[in-house]
Amino acid sequence: MPHSIRLKPGRDKAVRGGHPWIFSGAVDSAPSKLAAGATVLVESEAGEPLAWAAWSPQSQIRARVWSLDVARPIDHGFIKRAIARAVERRRRDGFSLDVPGGVRLVHGESDWVPGFVCDAYHGIDGRRWLVVQVTSAGAERWRDALVDALVEQVGADASVYERSDADVRRLEGLEPRAGLLRGAGPPGEQVIEEGATRLLVDIVGGHKTGFYLDQRDSRALAARLAPGARVLNAFCYTGGFSIAALAAGAIDVESVDSSADALAIGRRNVELNRLDASRAHWVRADAFEHLRTLARAGRRFDLVILDPPKLAASAAHVERASRAYKDLTRLGLAMLEPGGTALTFSCSGGVTRELFRKIAAAAAAAAGVDARVVASLGAGADHPVRLAFPEGEYLKGLQLSREAAR
Ligand code: SAH
Repeated sequence: MPHSIRLKPGRDKAVRGGHPWIFSGAVDSAPSKLAAGATVLVESEAGEPLAWAAWSPQSQIRARVWSLDVARPIDHGFIKRAIARAVERRRRDGFSLDVPGGVRLVHGESDWVPGFVCDAYHGIDGRRWLVVQVTSAGAERWRDALVDALVEQVGADASVYERSDADVRRLEGLEPRAGLLRGAGPPGEQVIEEGATRLLVDIVGGHKTGFYLDQRDSRALAARLAPGARVLNAFCYTGGFSIAALAAGAIDVESVDSSADALAIGRRNVELNRLDASRAHWVRADAFEHLRTLARAGRRFDLVILDPPKLAASAAHVERASRAYKDLTRLGLAMLEPGGTALTFSCSGGVTRELFRKIAAAAAAAAGVDARVVASLGAGADHPVRLAFPEGEYLKGLQLSREAAR
């Protein structure tokens, strides 16, 4: 007999609609000694079985839904099918695993594998690395099966490295962990291709799984806007946007980040792409302060990119984060030449698209700038957003164009 948990009245609706999170406040009753990651049958108040979920005793998200198909148990076969479907989705959306590049193969809740992420890096040396991140008790319990299923899909020549060292693991009561899971390692730096560029990926020491694959489409947009432009790239990490812009013909790119390691890779990316180093300026600084300094100095740019880290860690921080986003956008717009473009981003879950647009409007007003939204930006199709799970759309951006002076 499977363990079952009973929901409070009215709390069945979201589950039926495909929302994967069951908060502690929605649970009416549960067996007293359920192990972390245990599979539970989720029942409505009336006892109707609704879904299979993984139990997370330490988290406010008390259970995460694996499947609404209650007739099929959660076993190795289920895990295999879930991973196969995620990989198939990427193929259908036009991503290739057989050419040098990076693709998010599994995107957690949006691929029905809650708390599990896999980025696939295919290096120009022909090696393929799958970098996985486990952030839920359920995915932790099924980690080996998930990795086996991935290797089966992608091919036995792929190596697997784990980067489960994100802070969010603590919310699930899980310790940080990183290391080699399959193949021969450790993974040295990989060189992947993106658009017309080659980019270094530090799988072991970099942020997330080593690289921000989610900004691929916006880096391509920056390349289209770059010919002849003077560019400011704030929060540049290893310079993805900067390299895209330089390779596309930007005349000058100033890149700002607080991480010396990230900037060092950025400089090496310039060499790797045989770009003119005299056009690339790398500044280690607090980007908030540096933008103020540049503005005071009267600097002007044709393209400004603002891609800060998550400024609102939770809903409680949204107000303070909103002020920070506004400040950044105000400074960015103020330094734009008329006709110039700002690409401004937020990866805070608590900041909705609607709120982010309002923040941009307030920033433009404060800067005394007439600006227009040219496009709404976000992560690429390998970071899908299930309609039933709007929280999956963590990255939102705006392409803003400055009009001529009023
Ligand atoms: N645009 C990048 C990703 C940016 S991630 C890309 O396309 O790859 C956010 C970056 O902000 C990280 O590199 C982090 O080191 C940097 N960062 C965090 N706080 C900062 C601060 N106060 N000032 C400058 N950089 C900061």
